[in-house]
Amino acid sequence: MRPLIAVTATRTLRSSLRISNNAANEVAAITKPKKRAQSKTSSKKSSPSPQSAQVVPMKTATDSNGITRCSWCTNDPIYQFYHDNEWGNSPITDDRLLFELLCLEGAQAGLSWITILKRRQNYKDAFDDFDPSIVAKYTADKINQLIQNDGIIRNKLKIQSAVTNANAFLKVQKEFGTFSEYLWGFAPEGGPTAHLNEGNKCRAVSPESEAMSKDLKKRGFMFVGPTICYAYMQSIGMVNDHHVDCFLYPNKEKSQSD
Ligand SMILES: [Zn+2]
Repeated sequence: MRPLIAVTATRTLRSSLRISNNAANEVAAITKPKKRAQSKTSSKKSSPSPQSAQVVPMKTATDSNGITRCSWCTNDPIYQFYHDNEWGNSPITDDRLLFELLCLEGAQAGLSWITILKRRQNYKDAFDDFDPSIVAKYTADKINQLIQNDGIIRNKLKIQSAVTNANAFLKVQKEFGTFSEYLWGFAPEGGPTAHLNEGNKCRAVSPESEAMSKDLKKRGFMFVGPTICYAYMQSIGMVNDHHVDCFLYPNKEKSQSD
């Protein structure tokens, strides 16, 4: 959700909370590599871990126009636009956009989502509109150039991860035809609203995000911990965690506009 728990548990928490600790832990895990785990065949049916039980309270706020939406997007117009037009609203299957969001989620690790959203165009300009075939060929000089770009988060590991992920992304495309075909294999059964927040609480991870994380890591991707993957699933509409009182809660938009 953008209720962010560090990667924030999703963008709700993405705003204020934002520094939760799953994401921070995921960043730490990358910064301090642990002994490589045994590579196992991925399972999309992995059992829920204790972490899966973590939930984030959801709230709503009503703006001056009478529109009630998830409160994590605050009154910031950039945040609200993202909430109203992208977050969890429609399944994204375009590979380029999937790569863009994967990179942005990774860039956000340990930071607030609004920090990245405000720099989104800068990122697109700096990273060739997130064309994975171009990013995959970035040289050391290009990476050093990006590190000097004050329009993006100048973290060498995160910047390097975009190149690493672009190469892994292209391999997945080659194997599955499209990255979308591969990625959507991790969608929860029953569709994006199958597990809408119960009691207006949103999870930070799910069995599906853990399975996605495990398989992405096996394929060489970086900054893809289970919390980051869950936020990614929300971003691409694989799960829909709008608050039940939000005007974008499934089936509510129409009734409110009538
Ligand atoms: Zn909402």
